[in-house]
Order: sequence, then structure tokens, then C-alpha cells
Amino acid sequence: MPCLFCSIIAGDIPCQKVYEDESVLAFLDIGPVSEGHTLILPKAHAENLGTGLAADAEMLMSVVYKIAPSIMTAVGADGYNLGMNHGECAGQDVMHTHLHIMPRKKGVARSFAKTYPSQDSLAATAEKIRAALIV
Ligand code: AMP
Ligand code: ZN
Repeated sequence: MPCLFCSIIAGDIPCQKVYEDESVLAFLDIGPVSEGHTLILPKAHAENLGTGLAADAEMLMSVVYKIAPSIMTAVGADGYNLGMNHGECAGQDVMHTHLHIMPRKKGVARSFAKTYPSQDSLAATAEKIRAALIV
């Protein structure tokens, strides 16, 4: 079965893109735990950091630095959780290295439960983030 995230990178499956450069793609999670929940992934397929290049980790973190402030501005967040599920036993469902940015707001309970906003709602959030991006 083809890798879901490779299919998104190839443009065969749509996504709500937030940021892209030659080696990294970031898009909204389809089941966000909070508004602006973003996935950042290397374009070159690797199952996780254990099977990928050490440079992947550096690349992903440099994109966190680039886009997290704009994500927070766009959704009015005060902070964020960074997450990576490494391996099936840790809850990794998609076997293509990715980092989660989960924006958080003061006074709002921190939940890791998925929500399922409409495509229109996700598109509006992605648009707000792209507009706030200073890269
Ligand atoms: P993980 O459990 O760390 O492998 O995370 C995979 C994430 O990918 C989950 O949070 C899913 O909600 C998300 N996801 C699955 N399919 C898609 C999709 N087509 N577009 C965007 N996010 C997706
Ligand atoms: Zn892949």
C-alpha cells in the first residue's frame, strides 16, 4: 500500500497546506486536537527518525522555529505541544516521519482527543496561518 503522506506530498491526495520548501511539507492534521494542529514532515520517505537521516530531525525543528510563531498568532494560541509518535507501540499510525505542533490557549483544557472539523473550517484555518507566515 502506498504511504499516505508520500501520496499527499506527490499531490495525489489533497491537504490543507501551511508551509512548503524543497525538503519539508507542513499541513493541517485532519483530526486536530486543537485549532491549527499541524504536521511537519520530510518529503523524503522514512518510517521515523530511527530509519531516516539525522538531518531530518534538524530540518523538522528548524521548520518548527519558522512556522510555530505564525501558527500561534493565526489561531490566538499562547503556546504549543510538540509531539512525535515513534513506532506503532507509541501510537504512530502513519509510518512516515512527522512532528505534531498542537497549539494551546491559556485557560483551555489540554485535550489530546481528535476533533473532526469540516474541510471548509480546516481551509479557513490554513489560510489564516499562511497569511500570518513570516518566513
Ligand atoms: P501519528 O498517530 O503520529 O502517526 O499521526 C498521524 C496523524 O495523521 C493523525 O493525527 C491523523 O489525524 C493524521 N492524518 C491521517 N490522515 C490524514 C490526512 N489525509 N490529512 C491530514 N492528516 C491526516
Ligand atoms: Zn512516505
